[in-house]
Amino acid sequence: MDPVAFNPNEPPPSGVSNPAFNGYRADLPLCDAHVHLSADHDFAWDAQMVRGLMEHFGMERVALLGLPSSSHRENVDAGNNARCLAVKRALNAERPDRFVYACAGLVLRNGGRDDPGDLLAQARARAAEGYDGFKLLVGKPGQRKRLALPLDGPVFAPFFSFLEESGLPVTMHAGDPPDFWDPARAAAGGTWAYDASFPTLARIRAEVEGVLRAHPRLKLTLAHLFFLGDRPDEAARLLETYPDLCFDLTPGGEMYAGMSRDPETWRGLFLRFADRFLFGSDSDDWHSSDDLATYTWNFGFIVNLPRAFLERTEPFRFHDCDLGVLRPLGLPDEVLRAVYRGNFVRRFGERPR
Ligand SMILES: [Zn+2]
Repeated sequence: MDPVAFNPNEPPPSGVSNPAFNGYRADLPLCDAHVHLSADHDFAWDAQMVRGLMEHFGMERVALLGLPSSSHRENVDAGNNARCLAVKRALNAERPDRFVYACAGLVLRNGGRDDPGDLLAQARARAAEGYDGFKLLVGKPGQRKRLALPLDGPVFAPFFSFLEESGLPVTMHAGDPPDFWDPARAAAGGTWAYDASFPTLARIRAEVEGVLRAHPRLKLTLAHLFFLGDRPDEAARLLETYPDLCFDLTPGGEMYAGMSRDPETWRGLFLRFADRFLFGSDSDDWHSSDDLATYTWNFGFIVNLPRAFLERTEPFRFHDCDLGVLRPLGLPDEVLRAVYRGNFVRRFGERPR
């Protein structure tokens, strides 16, 4: 079948809502489990970005994930958690039907110098300040290399035990797209190329599973489908083995190309584990232009790629990227309601803390 031409980044005609313009099947409530404010902007910019993102895409809830140390040019912003919390409080005070959550990242010393007591103290302090959960970027290869400690070692154990006991969720970026380890990529000098000085993907995955084994009740959400778009068998094994594990569907476009190679199997997984996937976009103020009104342009791709892939029934392609022909899942409404809203509410709470 010929792919259906589809450009989600064209601005909708005036008076037409974005979901309707994009041909989504149903006007479903949408909650975004993965949003950042990691660029250097002031409070008014941050607040307007989140406000506008929610209004433009019809989002009922978003989770702001703090990144005291982001992967963008290894940006360090020790105040990033507090920025997320401030935006959460301000926006929730504006409207009773808008729910913004904030998850805190850890401030790390790196170089093998992190201390279990310090990480536990950070977790207790952030929980007491009203954060709704935590965000870990330490599984990203560059950050894991700098950390110079295993994720499943004794340094993180008290932190994870505290999360397990308190029931607070944690979203973790662990790994990266498998081809980032391709030696040809490193030889070509491209960005996101990992040579032998970085931990392997297999090692990072094994450490994450070590955490899950040691903390079976941890509400762990692995971001970007744990980069398993081409391995539905492994995704199924993890979901079967660890009942509190979830995946978020934040692009990485490569996940969607991977799932498109076997959409029948993935569709089966979504039906079987409907309560284990969360919608996420990775919207970040790094993406936003100076004109904050251009939401479709800024965030259209990362919001609409997951939606189009989950909802559409005919093969399609995005005009503005090279993912090739995507073969979508055409999920039933009850599964979409779980992925878009129900799972978010169960994970982060009916109301922000
Ligand atoms: Zn992210």
